[in-house]
Parts: sequence; structure tokens; C-alpha cells
Amino acid sequence: MTVKKICVSCKNEIVGGENSVEFKCPNCKTPIVRCGTCRKSMIKYVCPNCKQGGP
Ligand SMILES: [Zn+2]
Ligand SMILES: [Zn+2]
Repeated sequence: MTVKKICVSCKNEIVGGENSVEFKCPNCKTPIVRCGTCRKSMIKYVCPNCKQGGP
């Protein structure tokens, strides 16, 4: 079983996991995944659950 990881910023599927980061929302502990591209571009994340954002 493969769990697909979707970047919360650009909604693209993470392929290979290159430079991607995974962390939990500091507010509601929802897992958040961001791809390397969005990380590099310093695009802010928004939690899909509680709508909390961060750098
Ligand atoms: Zn992305
Ligand atoms: Zn949250």
C-alpha cells in the first residue's frame, strides 16, 4: 500500500521525496507535506485542517 503525499502548497504529488519536508501542524497536529520546490521558494503553508499558516 502506497500513501500518496501531496504538497499542501502547490497540490502536486511528491515524487521521490526530493527535498520534501514532513511535519505536523503546530496547532492541530495534522501531518503537513511540502515539496522541495515550495520549500525553496519559501511558499507559506496553510494547514488543510485548521487553516493555520506559517513560513
Ligand atoms: Zn509544492
Ligand atoms: Zn492545523
